[in-house]
Amino acid sequence: MASCIFCRIIKGEIPSFKLFESDKTFAFLDIGPLSKGHALVIPKHHGAKLTDIPDDSLTELLPVLKKIANASGAVDYNVLQNNGRIAHQEVDHVHFHLIPKPNESEGLG
Ligand code: 5GP
Ligand code: ZN
Repeated sequence: MASCIFCRIIKGEIPSFKLFESDKTFAFLDIGPLSKGHALVIPKHHGAKLTDIPDDSLTELLPVLKKIANASGAVDYNVLQNNGRIAHQEVDHVHFHLIPKPNESEGLG
């Protein structure tokens, strides 16, 4: 979708720190990280809410999320996925937040 910021990131029209790309999935660092390594994993298929995304895209996405969680080295982490304004969704292209939770000695988290 031409006006969607995450579709534009997938196309390379807006720069991002890319972590992973495959046929159906894209992952990059969040521009406003809640902790070091805060990543966003998204389906390439544009859809605002989880229920708009085809099953095959979701099937491919989850193992990618797992790989990135492993690669981050985080022992503890949150996976968040917001749907709709009341649920705090700001960007209307489905995205899974992966938010590593550092030890207290490592600072923010
Ligand atoms: P939401 O509140 O919709 O679940 O989260 C949207 C996330 O997208 C936020 O954490 C925000 O920092 C991130 N974000 C918004 N615009 C950009 C952008 O242009 N580039 C990157 N890398 N992240 C973005
Ligand atoms: Zn989009």
